[in-house]
Amino acid sequence: MKPAQRLKLFEDVFARDGGRCVYCGVATHRLAKGQSRSPTLATLDHVVPRSLGGPLSRENLVLACQACNNERGVMDADAFRALKAGSR
Ligand SMILES: [Zn+2]
Repeated sequence: MKPAQRLKLFEDVFARDGGRCVYCGVATHRLAKGQSRSPTLATLDHVVPRSLGGPLSRENLVLACQACNNERGVMDADAFRALKAGSR
């Protein structure tokens, strides 16, 4: 995928999910110049992991903060969402 397509995909998912992590609800931010990575950095999370053949498509991506993306690993997306909702 070309960088421009990837950026478009990111913008689409970011807008669709309202700029918030779908798991913990935190308002995420984009990586800005000169800013170091933070736990609330906006990332694209694969619902079906790439390792299991999940495609890089709008339907298979959700907006997640860096912390949740790291924490989820290969856990089922729905199970992880329920886990985060329960600990809120
Ligand atoms: Zn999160």
